[in-house]
Amino acid sequence: MQAIRTRLQTLYGTPAMAPHEDPLAELVLTVLSQSTNDRNRDVAFLRLRERFDSWEAVRDAPVGEIEEAIRPGGISKVKSVRIKAILEAVGEDLDLAWMRDAPVEESREYLCALPGVGRKTAACVLLFAYGLRDIPVDTHVSRVGTRLGLFRPGAPFEELHDELLRMTPPGAELELHVNMLRHGRRTCHAQRPACRACALRRMCPGRQA
Ligand code: SF4
Repeated sequence: MQAIRTRLQTLYGTPAMAPHEDPLAELVLTVLSQSTNDRNRDVAFLRLRERFDSWEAVRDAPVGEIEEAIRPGGISKVKSVRIKAILEAVGEDLDLAWMRDAPVEESREYLCALPGVGRKTAACVLLFAYGLRDIPVDTHVSRVGTRLGLFRPGAPFEELHDELLRMTPPGAELELHVNMLRHGRRTCHAQRPACRACALRRMCPGRQA
């Protein structure tokens, strides 16, 4: 892991991003990111923020209005229902600030009990909103990690999250997530990984000829 981390840092630097302290925004953003690209996700998110002046207003709006606002993000019918259900489940005051000081396991358990929220979304909220110790494993991170031999092939996402968290030095969660994601997008593609040009090929058991 240390060798991989160092090589990725050489390639992509050490990403830094201050926690934004808006867990609801992170929850909604991860719902909007499903089955679309970053640009469409962001357009949908901005339209939602422009249409409604608070998360309470989104929660209390008819689902059709939410759907209309987020339409550019795709599968808006499903996503609008999901967003409303999550906001309703969070409770009357829509306050998740308690997570800042709560044990991470407690916060993760709470988030994973929300409708449609799994380990990846929970990890995004904990890491990006509050800088807490968790690391999201998306499809890119999962693919790169499996090819590099970090994960058991075919392991479920729950196990991937536990394993990557166990291997990640405290404080390196954001850096490893972002750099593995970048490597998956730029070099270690799903269909045709550019192994000949890959700076990690000598340490990669999954490299292709
Ligand atoms: S050598 Fe190939 S499979 Fe391994 S990390 Fe690089 S691009 Fe991915």
